[in-house]
Amino acid sequence: MTQEFDVVVAGAGMVGAALATGLGQNGFRVALVDRETAPDVASGSAPDIRVSALSAGSERYLRSLGAWPEMAAMGITPYRRLAVWDQTSHPLGALLPRRLGEVVFDAADLGASHLGHIVENRITQRALWQSAAQQPSVTLLSGNGVTAVEQGSEQAVVVLEDNTRLACQLVIAADGATSRLRDMAGIGVSRDQYGQQALVASVRYRGPVEDITWQAFHPSGPRAFLPLHSAGPSHPGESWASLVWYDAPATLARLKALDAPSFLAEVQRAFPADLPALTHVDARASFPIARQHARDYARGRIVLVGDAAHTINPLAGQGVNLGFQDAQCLQAIIREARRAGEDLAVPQRLAAYEQQRRPANRRMMLAMDLFYHLFSNRIPPLHLLRNLGLGAARALPFARNQVARYAMGIEEDLPPLIRQLAARIPGASHL
Ligand SMILES: Cc1cc2nc3c(=O)[nH]c(=O)nc-3n(C[C@H](O)[C@H](O)[C@H](O)COP(=O)(O)OP(=O)(O)OC[C@H]3O[C@@H](n4cnc5c(N)ncnc54)[C@H](O)[C@@H]3O)c2cc1C
Repeated sequence: MTQEFDVVVAGAGMVGAALATGLGQNGFRVALVDRETAPDVASGSAPDIRVSALSAGSERYLRSLGAWPEMAAMGITPYRRLAVWDQTSHPLGALLPRRLGEVVFDAADLGASHLGHIVENRITQRALWQSAAQQPSVTLLSGNGVTAVEQGSEQAVVVLEDNTRLACQLVIAADGATSRLRDMAGIGVSRDQYGQQALVASVRYRGPVEDITWQAFHPSGPRAFLPLHSAGPSHPGESWASLVWYDAPATLARLKALDAPSFLAEVQRAFPADLPALTHVDARASFPIARQHARDYARGRIVLVGDAAHTINPLAGQGVNLGFQDAQCLQAIIREARRAGEDLAVPQRLAAYEQQRRPANRRMMLAMDLFYHLFSNRIPPLHLLRNLGLGAARALPFARNQVARYAMGIEEDLPPLIRQLAARIPGASHL
């Protein structure tokens, strides 16, 4: 039997679940489908290995969807300060300030209570599943993946693993970076694999929950600290954090293979002295890093959002923040189509979605690369002065600051001059 909906959202990750909730709030009949079952969030358990830095804009969006109070009840960690600096050692180290080009943001300077929150992905996803399920017009189908999409002139039919058939006007592919629906739509990607990978580790440290997140740039890649919640009564005086170590795959493979005490000792040695004393490592996992952009955001009745449309270097943690912006934009476009009495998959509307989102997503991709290049270079500052001239060297801290503000979601847009600089990054024209 075929069930009828307005929209099928394939993939109930953070982005798909948010979009389904928003559409449900607007009365659309939505099927939200995921091949996995609900993420488990047992209280007192070790954190999810996957965490995200959610910007103030994402917080506003999640509040509007009604998910934020549930997330706060499960555990979110505000950060009030954010620091990035160049940790490259150079021959003139003794003569130069300890942290050349350090950029620090403090919420107090911006008149805000916090800059953002570090949240475990399973918490955001679970809260969004609950918000989606509370919408009378949303049907959540979990543990049942999409296997096929049949596109027709009047509607599309989404076929699930158990042969359930879901008819709709519009299929939203929110099924992540390796999107099968993108393939089913015949949409290709442009992709650049970075030489580095990211090793993420959930650790406990001695001390209270920190209110700072930081990232130190080494020539081999950044090393980052993201604070999480208190470890609770079972480990008094300790807190959880997520560490990210970007490096060559071979280095990370060696680190992953170390036993826990050796791993902790190596991290303690290799990370900056700002890292508190570590007491325990829970999970460790490494992720390949790629800049990937779909060649089209829509084809026929299938439209892409979130990681299905784009993945960026996670070094400033903006992936899901961009996905939430896609979701808000697409929701507005779908509402306009309904108001105008149109088919929800009318090509002009889907083209308008792409016209709004592609340049913004591309800009953030390029800012990540610019950010990366501005911080991780091996060039000693005097060499820079000689080669670039004093003016350019003086402009560098300014550029770092501007790019960092944008990349961290503190500033809405890049200044025009830096935007032009970003457009000159190798590979920029293919995006
Ligand atoms: C190391 C690392 C650190 C990161 N840190 C940050 C950060 O600090 N801040 C940030 O904003 N972003 C960060 N990101 C990026 C962020 O994790 C992603 O942008 C985000 O998870 C994308 O969400 P999504 O909902 O689009 O896709 P996903 O989270 O990939 O969700 C896709 C969903 O689709 C489901 N699915 C897949 N195939 C099917 C199918 N055939 N049928 C049905 N369901 C299907 C999956 O089960 C899954 O639930 C990081 C990424 C990495 C690798």
